[in-house]
Amino acid sequence: MLEVQRRLRTARHVVVFTGAGVSAESGIPTFRDALSGLWSRFDPAALATAEAFRKDPALVWGWYEWRRARVLAAAPNAAHLAIAELARRVPRLSLITQNVDDLHERAGCAEVIHLHGSLHAPRCFACTRPYAGVLPLPDVGEEGSRIEPPRCLRCNGRIRPGVVWFGESLPERPWRDALAAARDCDLLLSIGTSGLVMPAAQIPRIARQQGAAVVHVNLHAEVDGDICLQGSAAELLPRLLGD
Ligand code: NAD
Repeated sequence: MLEVQRRLRTARHVVVFTGAGVSAESGIPTFRDALSGLWSRFDPAALATAEAFRKDPALVWGWYEWRRARVLAAAPNAAHLAIAELARRVPRLSLITQNVDDLHERAGCAEVIHLHGSLHAPRCFACTRPYAGVLPLPDVGEEGSRIEPPRCLRCNGRIRPGVVWFGESLPERPWRDALAAARDCDLLLSIGTSGLVMPAAQIPRIARQQGAAVVHVNLHAEVDGDICLQGSAAELLPRLLGD
């Protein structure tokens, strides 16, 4: 902890790289958490594909509307707030997230690099243009349900969630910005991510190769060669700031 605090005090450019674990304590389940109701019968990774959407759009849209409802009902936790505070204290901070929620923004981070898109930016599955309509507030209970996706107001194609599915490329601009930040930083904090989803998981590796110190904050700390702070992000991050 003291070593990381020392590095934070002297860092020129900090990259904060977050995953689902940073939002877990806001009540947003990670993919590896047990799910309830309808969703407990599905592998989340199998729902997060274009193939699944083509086969059963109402099932996949219903799953994402359930997730959007969870996010709308959630609030940023102490980890999101500590990252926003850190951004005010260091000379430069780039925040790269794999999360599709908006809890970093709601905690006060103005610029967030979303590598995997957002639950709040649906677009057309056919013509790819952003949805021009307004989504109703999702009305989905704990059990979840199948929901027919709305139609594109321009081409009548089905609207899909604005997230990156398995097998799809990352959005160009965020990926370019993330690579540039990883190559430039001198300290990278990797928070609440299993580091299994590629190519996002390359970001800490690139930073390490360029000579940056890499610090993991995770319930399970198992990475050799880096600094690991084991525990919950909401508890550890405020302590890192000395609060
Ligand atoms: P993951 O589910 O693979 O791993 C979560 C990691 O967080 C694990 O290593 C776990 O040990 C750790 N963790 C769990 N609770 C924690 C806590 N309280 N404090 C610190 N660490 C904690 O998540 P991932 O690596 O982000 O990859 C999964 C993919 O799923 C990503 O692409 C992401 O877009 C997507 N996803 C996003 C959300 C979200 O937006 N909130 C939620 C679920 C999944």
